[in-house]
Amino acid sequence: MPSLVGSDSTRPGRRVVYVDRDGTINPDFHYLSDPDRVEILEGVTAGIRALRERGFVVVCTTNQSGIARGLYTAATVEAIHERIQRRLASGAAQIDRFYFCPHRPEEGCPCRKPRLGMFLAAEQELGLGRKGSAIIGDRWLDISVGQQLGLLRILVPERGRENETWAEFSSDRPRPEFVAPDFLAAVRHVLERA
Ligand SMILES: [Mg+2]
Ligand SMILES: [Zn+2]
Repeated sequence: MPSLVGSDSTRPGRRVVYVDRDGTINPDFHYLSDPDRVEILEGVTAGIRALRERGFVVVCTTNQSGIARGLYTAATVEAIHERIQRRLASGAAQIDRFYFCPHRPEEGCPCRKPRLGMFLAAEQELGLGRKGSAIIGDRWLDISVGQQLGLLRILVPERGRENETWAEFSSDRPRPEFVAPDFLAAVRHVLERA
């Protein structure tokens, strides 16, 4: 995994939209461990399809400490990602690559969001740039990553959890540049700015 941080927001490469998983692509059930429970949130399929039609790479990053906690295995996480892809495919959409962090917070790994390990790996492996790129997520840690990398940062609070979401934005945490009511509205904002 690449070691370092860079706030080089001019990094050249393909434009990408990073999307969070739980609470953004699918409802956040807390430690989802059953592929049969995968649902895709409203506007996600159409939004991802639109991004890819406009030439964006779509990368999903997710903290999955449930693996280190022994609640499910990496193979289960992969099965869930396959299920998400299948659901998206029925609407002609697809995620280009999934990255997950299997560690617990106290392990201090370089990949757990808001750390940048998954993103630096994606940049290298997929040739991604930062200019014109964006991140869409339902929590402060997604917004923090966007700020560190110089991406357009869009918050889509999960419906019914708005108060919880905003309570996490203590004064020293970066704010989103745009708050969207749903995923499709977030995508429209990306496309207008692109
Ligand atoms: Mg989330
Ligand atoms: Zn990790």
